[in-house]
This record gives sequence, structure tokens and C-alpha cells, in this order.
Amino acid sequence: MPAAAVPPSAPCPLRTLEDLRGRRLAIVGRGGFGGFQLVWGELDALGIEPESDLAELREVGFPMQGVVDALDAGLADAGVIRSCLLEERPEWAARFRVLSPRTESGFPCATSTPLYPDWPLAALRTTPPELSRAVAIALLGMRQEHDGLAWAVPADYQPVHELFRRLEIGPYAYLRAPTLMVLAERYWPWVAGFALLIVGWIFYTVRVEHLVQTRTAALREALAAREAMEARMRGAQEQAEHMSRLSVLGELSGTLAHELNQPLAAVVNYANSLVRRADNQRLTEAAVREAAAEIAGQAERAAGILGRIRAFARKRTTSREPVAPRELVDEAVPLFRGMLAHAPEIGIDDTLPAGALIDADRLQIQQVLLNLLKNAWDASREQPFERQRIDIRLDEDGGNLHIAVRDYGSGLDPAARERLFESFFTTKADGLGLGLSICRSIAEAHGGRLAAGSPDASPRFGAVGAVFVLSLPLCPSAAPSTQCPAQTGAPAA
Ligand code: ADP
Repeated sequence: MPAAAVPPSAPCPLRTLEDLRGRRLAIVGRGGFGGFQLVWGELDALGIEPESDLAELREVGFPMQGVVDALDAGLADAGVIRSCLLEERPEWAARFRVLSPRTESGFPCATSTPLYPDWPLAALRTTPPELSRAVAIALLGMRQEHDGLAWAVPADYQPVHELFRRLEIGPYAYLRAPTLMVLAERYWPWVAGFALLIVGWIFYTVRVEHLVQTRTAALREALAAREAMEARMRGAQEQAEHMSRLSVLGELSGTLAHELNQPLAAVVNYANSLVRRADNQRLTEAAVREAAAEIAGQAERAAGILGRIRAFARKRTTSREPVAPRELVDEAVPLFRGMLAHAPEIGIDDTLPAGALIDADRLQIQQVLLNLLKNAWDASREQPFERQRIDIRLDEDGGNLHIAVRDYGSGLDPAARERLFESFFTTKADGLGLGLSICRSIAEAHGGRLAAGSPDASPRFGAVGAVFVLSLPLCPSAAPSTQCPAQTGAPAA
């Protein structure tokens, strides 16, 4: 029914619907059946997609006069109007031509599309049948217009359905619902980009995972190697400490034998006296009891000495616990005394606050104290009797414990002072030169330090002798005594 009309004077005259490609087309509206969709059907058959292949699809709205006005104003190159309009308006027929004109038999006007059935008249369910019948008779009895239009029996609307289906509009608009394939076809650059991103992401993830695993394995290996090395170092350190303890014992073994000699001699004496009394028939039960008690007492004393020595010499691994510094001193001093025939006088000056604790390996700290005491004794044993004394002072400052071991012996000459803590430095004929270097590493392993200080001037002897100060971090006073935390930070000053 509709005709696509163009001004005959158009610069590049359009003659067929195909010529519309790239041109501006004026229409009443996209929803108009005769006003657009029929021409759309023809364009579609020619492979022309109005929305993309035309330069413009200009909707002017009703009345159809607007289409002609748009053509006159030069706003469009062609327009869609109802068939027979040109024939009815001679002034338009002079100015416009029908594109791809076709004639249908029995239809007097030129059209650009095949003819489709026009509007039907239908009765509603509530319309009285008599009225429907009367209207139908009246319509069918009407005379045919000059343009060939007339009321007739219901026509075949199948072509309309086919057109709607082909254009996927009206009741067939659902066909336009995008399927995955359609979406993929339409948006393939995006789909491809997205797929590339996913592939890239998967590749990246797999690679990162691979790198993480490789590096984790390398890290584990490095950690295992480090742990093995630390274990070897710990073993070597323990071995060295053990040797050092043995060397202290070795040096003191002579006096140790003398110390043990006393209880053994006493045991022998009591046993002999029992034998003599038995020979002289003077063995009373009371005498036997007294001798046996003495023998047992002396044997216990000897066992005590040996037990202390064995505990000290035993090979062991380190173990820390919260411990009162004074306790360590009180254990080390008798151990030291027990090893000497003529132990020097040892003074203890304790100014520590009550409850002061350090997190320490008991035996290691005892070893340090014993070593300092032995060195002090070695330095002072050749001195006049009154200078053969050792003073131990315990005090604290700013969270650190200081244990100073002071003697009044030969003192340190400047050259020796430089090298005191070097391994194998000794000025003694039978010395190993390991004591102080091991003591320093024990102090540092406890987060503390060991240093040789300058002795104060004593009222009796002046600033003679040497003083060694062991400094260790004290447990924070708030910490419960059973779980003194390991100290961190700089070594104690
Ligand atoms: P060793 O006792 O086997 O010599 P140490 O490492 O314990 O090994 O001591 C190293 C050296 O430091 C000693 O040989 C001695 O010269 C010196 N020394 C240590 N303590 C004192 C001290 N209290 N007085 C004087 N000299 C000391």
C-alpha cells in the first residue's frame, strides 16, 4: 500500500528502493504498519537494514502531510506515504515520484510494496448480532471508491503475519530476544576480549601458583639448611661449654681429691677404731652406733661433693627458667669452695629488690660465675693472705641485673685487657684460654653481656685487682614468675 516518494528534482535522482541506501528517509513513525513497516519489509528483502544502512530514519509523526513537508524542507531525501495519496493530490504528484513503482491488478494507484489487506471491522462479544449483521450488510453494500478501496469479506491476513515474522516485530517480537549465539555474534569483540582476559587471568594464576610453590619449596629448603646449621652450631657450643667445664674441673681436680680425702679419711678412722675396739673387747653397741652414724654422715658428704661435680660436668642441652640471681650465686659459691683446699674469703653484697628474676639457664650462669671465681682466685692466690678475698656484688639499674666479681689480685695489664675475651688467650702455664670467651657467649645468648670493669679504690687495698661484670636483663616485674618472657632488644648495658 505505501509508496516511497521522492522529489523528481533530487540531485541524484532516486528511482528504486535500493537507491535509498545511505539516504535520509522520512516516515510517520517506526510503529506505523503502512507508514513504515511495509517499506521496511521491502528494504529487508533487498538486504537493507533501515537502522544502519540509511543515513537517517526521520520520524515526523501524524498527519502524513508531515512527511511531504520534510521532503519540501529538504530534511529528507525520500518519504513513506499512503498509496493513492499522490494520485489524490495532483500538486504532490507533480513534485514527487514513486520509487520502484509497481501496479497491482484492479488497483488504480502506483505502490512501492505489494498490497496488504487493510483494516478489518470486527464485532465485540457484547455487540448484538442484529447490529453486526446490519452494519456488515451496510458496509458490503457500499460503492467502490475511485481508488479501488471497498469493504469486502474478511481477507487473508497471512502476508501480514509473514511480514511480522520476517521483521521479528508485533507478535513475533519475541524472536528478537537475544540468544547466547546472537549475543556472541553481536558482541564478539567484547566476548573475545573477555575470553582473552579470562585466559590471561588463568595463565597468570597458574604461573603465580607455580612461582609460589617453587619459592616456598626453596624457602623450606633454606630454612631446613639453616635449622640444620643452627643445630650443628648449638651442638658445637654445647660441646665447647662442656669442655670448658671439664677443664675447670681438671684444673681443680687436685683440690677436689683433697676435699674428698677428708670424709674418706674420717670413714677409715671410724672403721679402724671399730676394729681396734673389737680387738680389745671394748666394742659396745653405743660405740658401733656412733661410728656407723659418723661413717654414714661422712659418706653422704663425699657423695654430695661428687653429686655437685657430676651435675656440673654432665653433658646437657640448654633450658631456660625464671630464676632468682641470688640463688645462682648461693649455689656457685659452695661449689667453688668445695673444690679448694683453702678457699678464700668470699663476701656477697646483695642490693637487688626482692623478687628480682632473670630468665636463665641455671647451669650456664653458674658456669660463668664459677669461671669468674676461679680466675679471681688464680689472680690472687700468690698475693699476701689478706688480699686473697673475693667480693661479689649484685645490683640492678634500668631493668638489668649486674653481678660484679671483684678480686684484689694481680690485675689486668692493658695488653691482656685488649685480648681477654679472645678464644685461646691465656697467660697461665696450664690455661686453655677458653673460659672468658665462652662466658661472654653465654651472657650474650641470654641477651646480656660480660665485661672487664675498672675496680673501685678499696679502703684497705686501693684500686688493685680486677672486676668482671656480668649483666643480664631482668624479667619485667609484672611478669608471673613461672613465665618470664624471653627478653628482646639490645643486650643489657
Ligand atoms: P684461662 O683461665 O684458661 O687462662 P680465661 O679465658 O678464663 O682462660 O682467661 C683468659 C686470661 O684472662 C687469663 O689467662 C688471665 O690472663 C686473664 N684474666 C682473667 N681473669 C682475670 C683476673 N681476675 N685477674 C687477672 N687476669 C685475669
